[in-house]
Amino acid sequence: MPVLSLLRQGSPLANAQCQRDVLERDGQAGIPSFQATLAGHGVVSLTSRYLTSLQVNVGKLCNQTCGHCHVDAGPDRRELMTKENFLHCLRLLSESTIQTVDITGGAPEMNPLFEWFVTEVRRLGRHVIDRCNLTILTAPGFTHLPQFLATHQVEVIASLPCYLEANCDAQRGDGVFQKSIEALKLLNGLGYARENSGLKLSLVYNPVGPSLPPNQQQLEQAYRDQLRQRFGIEFNHLYTITNMPISRFLADLLQTGRYAAYMALLVNSFNRDSIENLMCRSTISIDWQGNLYDCDFNQMLDLPLIDKLPRHISSVQITDLENREITVGRHCYGCTAGAGSSCTGSLVRD
Ligand code: SF4
Ligand code: SF4
Repeated sequence: MPVLSLLRQGSPLANAQCQRDVLERDGQAGIPSFQATLAGHGVVSLTSRYLTSLQVNVGKLCNQTCGHCHVDAGPDRRELMTKENFLHCLRLLSESTIQTVDITGGAPEMNPLFEWFVTEVRRLGRHVIDRCNLTILTAPGFTHLPQFLATHQVEVIASLPCYLEANCDAQRGDGVFQKSIEALKLLNGLGYARENSGLKLSLVYNPVGPSLPPNQQQLEQAYRDQLRQRFGIEFNHLYTITNMPISRFLADLLQTGRYAAYMALLVNSFNRDSIENLMCRSTISIDWQGNLYDCDFNQMLDLPLIDKLPRHISSVQITDLENREITVGRHCYGCTAGAGSSCTGSLVRD
């Protein structure tokens, strides 16, 4: 079956296999394997160090259907983490010194156990990040959430791919920009991004098309000027993230005939300095079913941890996960291009 048809099918397994096949075929087009490029820069294998962050994907349900979404999330998805797997996450956390729980989705707040889980993680004294799409904070049934997040001192990292309405809506859907501005004002009103409040609010930018993000510091200043002058909005940081050649963005690249050029851009922009801080070296990613991955992107490609390691959170110890070899592939070029890319933005500062 043609690749695009499979990608559109929505069957997660067929989809992941199909994406891996596309990335694998690159070898025939002369694009080196990621391992070969690492070796060429003196890195025999990529290994993790001590873990600082547990990234928990609590489900694929979302109130939006963004064009670049690497999770393929949307309102019709039904995959949600169960209480049993949340409890495994809490067990692993309590047995470790991991300081941060980074909750993502979908729209993580749509998992009915989101607020309970946040409360339990905070009870353990750990920091919580909510990867929020902003619009959920103004959706019917969820308007209490801004106050909940503030009360529990949850850091909010929110997607806002542009400070211009047309660009933002083109990527995330009609009306998303205005709802996002409304949500940011609500968060500011509760103290987010205000001095000495302890409430952190950061924004995420990713390019609209197949290009690398611009300089993070300069773009942050432009966002700050625009949002402050036009809307009186404040935030702490802007994180620039490279679009990964997977899921909906991969389908779009293939459909528009831009896949080869984008991969060439990523490979030719390989930056050795980004390797030190790759997020897979300090994070473990858990899917809604409790399966373990080196990162959210490997999760979407269904690329498991290396063979000898436990695959499920129910049977893992923290010592299994430190100093582990990381499973890599050609999609990893998305993390090492230019200034590098991670869930907290660029990896190499100017
Ligand atoms: S808001 Fe986030 S999870 Fe939801 S569709 Fe958009 S990118 Fe995907
Ligand atoms: S995609 Fe990025 S974070 Fe994931 S394993 Fe590759 S380099 Fe690491």
